[in-house]
Amino acid sequence: MKKTAFLSLVILFSIQVLAQQNFDTLRIRPQKITDNIYMLKGAGGNIGVLVGKEGTLMVDDQFAPLSNKINGAIKTIDPGEIRFLINTHIHGDHSGGNENFKRMDATIVAHDQVRERMMKESVNPISKKVTPPRDKDAWPVVTFGDRMSFHLNDEDVELIHLSPGHTDGDVLVHFVKANVFHTGDTFTRGGYPFVDLTTGGSFTGYLTSLDKTLSLLDDNSKVIPGHGELATKADVKIFRDKLVDIRDQVAAALKKGKKVEDIPAMGITDKYDVDWGKNGFVKGKDFVVLVAENLKAEMPVKPVKK
Ligand SMILES: [Zn+2]
Repeated sequence: MKKTAFLSLVILFSIQVLAQQNFDTLRIRPQKITDNIYMLKGAGGNIGVLVGKEGTLMVDDQFAPLSNKINGAIKTIDPGEIRFLINTHIHGDHSGGNENFKRMDATIVAHDQVRERMMKESVNPISKKVTPPRDKDAWPVVTFGDRMSFHLNDEDVELIHLSPGHTDGDVLVHFVKANVFHTGDTFTRGGYPFVDLTTGGSFTGYLTSLDKTLSLLDDNSKVIPGHGELATKADVKIFRDKLVDIRDQVAAALKKGKKVEDIPAMGITDKYDVDWGKNGFVKGKDFVVLVAENLKAEMPVKPVKK
């Protein structure tokens, strides 16, 4: 098994451990972005909320034990019913409360691949442990391929399927009139990005998604990242440029004939480890291996000379 696939499993395990933490003392904090759009922080992925007379639309729902607290925090903003719950992707720190919100009558919406993967069991390649499908109540009941739009509370909400990057079911949520975006984990703050190979992620796809997102942002856009504080286009651009720098250095090393296992010792991520190495799940030396393996897999195969 490749080291990067192993890393994916370690990180998924960490997410599951986090899901089992005691959340009793945790507070869910709503942060106002516009008159009717809020960001909620707690544990797990950031939540986006659109409220108004026509009901509430929420984006992501963190972990199941937090659902009542999240619902309570949303109701302090607006007492209306939660009509729609969008999952930006499959991970449990963004979709863990699906069952609970379905029982509150929310309609769960996600990309086709999120439902596909939730419906099936998966097998851990190391331990061979079988993870059963998610409870049927967690499955999205409305799914889509490339795009979907909502029109409520005088807002247009566009869901845009991005390239397979963080996972293969990544969706960018664009509140068009408000110029607010929820990126899911296709943009996060404070660490190296997690490319989840076990759910169809890809590093080069991750960069393609960031470029697509940047093409939709302007200097007034407000960006709810998958994790971390509210951001701007400049923050997304800096993040993307760091990843491009790492990619270019790894690609140059491979071109010179370096092997994948030689890349971590080259110090490519030393300057980024200062910020990203401290808090993130993913370590710089592991990240460059993932980048190198991804680039190698995509290199053109040389024709065999006859
Ligand atoms: Zn994720």
